[in-house]
Amino acid sequence: MDLAFSSEDLAFRDDVRGFLRDHLPAGLARRESQGFHLSRGEVAEWQRCLYARGWVAPNWPQQFGGTGWNAIRKYIFDVECGIANAPEISLIALSMVGPVLCRFGSPELQQRFLDPILRGDLWFCQGFSEPQSGSDLASLRTRAVRDGDDYIVSGQKTWTTAAHMADYMICLCRTDAEVKPQAGLSMLLLPMDAPGVTVRPIATIDHEHTVNEVFLDDVRVSAANLVGEPNSGWQQARFLLGNERTHNAYVGMLKRHLLRIARLIDAAPARGASAVACAQFRRAHALLEIDIDALEWSALRVVAGEQGAALDAAASALKIRGSEYLLRAADLEMEILGREAAARFAPDDVAPLPAGADPLAVGRSTQYLYWRASTIFGGANEIQRSIIWNTLFRA
Ligand SMILES: Cc1cc2nc3c(=O)[nH]c(=O)nc-3n(C[C@H](O)[C@H](O)[C@H](O)COP(=O)(O)OP(=O)(O)OC[C@H]3O[C@@H](n4cnc5c(N)ncnc54)[C@H](O)[C@@H]3O)c2cc1C
Repeated sequence: MDLAFSSEDLAFRDDVRGFLRDHLPAGLARRESQGFHLSRGEVAEWQRCLYARGWVAPNWPQQFGGTGWNAIRKYIFDVECGIANAPEISLIALSMVGPVLCRFGSPELQQRFLDPILRGDLWFCQGFSEPQSGSDLASLRTRAVRDGDDYIVSGQKTWTTAAHMADYMICLCRTDAEVKPQAGLSMLLLPMDAPGVTVRPIATIDHEHTVNEVFLDDVRVSAANLVGEPNSGWQQARFLLGNERTHNAYVGMLKRHLLRIARLIDAAPARGASAVACAQFRRAHALLEIDIDALEWSALRVVAGEQGAALDAAASALKIRGSEYLLRAADLEMEILGREAAARFAPDDVAPLPAGADPLAVGRSTQYLYWRASTIFGGANEIQRSIIWNTLFRA
């Protein structure tokens, strides 16, 4: 199979590069490149640019506002955005909720939610994980009990990314406790400003606020906000998580790291690194680059559909490798920075750099600490290994 890009795909890549060069705000790209989490307002700025160009939802069917790109073009777009330091735009709404609504939502839900999501007017968080239910998601206990035209939702979600910025939660909850766990789940679009919703930040090692606990105390949600049929939530959740895993090869992000590591190595002698140390850094960079190239070719084989029925296993393998390479890249950055790696700098547009500090060090330790979580979120890597085993080797 020929995995090289066609001349049309290369022209498309040039088009994407030109658009990013001309429209991606420089301040936004710098903040993103430093690895800090952006505010909703900052991300909305970029989403408006993409919306105006019609490029906001590559993964949606075209009739709902998707781009109509084939898998190769989506891949090219994703990688180019990664390299150019374009922020991910309202990821949960656009990459998870939108496709679920396009596939399973009623025409009424599609009418109410899809366009505001495209425009960036509605933000979502993903309310799946609970204190006792992460990997074993089907055991979750948040209940939704029908009461007239509403459901009453009670329970607790945890690790909920961006709950403090979201308008809605896509909430997986138990609507039937009498059947086997997977058969009794439903998906509700739960307004985050409803009485009974409490959001509490979880303090994380990187000192950023991204994840939260969400307490749901008798929250009244209109039954019109149910996605699909009652008790069909497991099927929808699997669809959503499949999208999340395929997305997680991190190739664009890894290429971004490679570029930065090369710059860090160039600056290392001025920071006092010996010639021997610099040679070792270059070797580690080259080895990482080779592995990332191989990952990219594997991702392209998946994108080109070569894996067929084993797509689930391939998506899991990409997630494992991509997240492991992120850790390796972040480790190498810390090693090259040496003593400076220990400093936790604020974004340089918030607090000026201390005298003598290397601008390339800004955000490095914060991102290094955040990437520790990449082997956990989107389904822990041990679970991905089980998926590979079950898909490929179990009769
Ligand atoms: C930064 C971050 C952001 C997140 N954002 C969200 C979000 O927005 N929404 C959301 O719903 N969730 C979110 N999560 C939660 C995430 O999906 C879960 O943390 C993950 O699924 C693991 O579940 P757990 O934390 O309960 O760990 P557990 O399931 O308790 O697992 C603990 C350890 O045991 C291993 N393990 C568990 N079961 C098995 C098994 N059967 N075989 C082998 N090993 C096993 C796991 O791999 C892990 O290493 C986020 C997590 C993090 C860290």
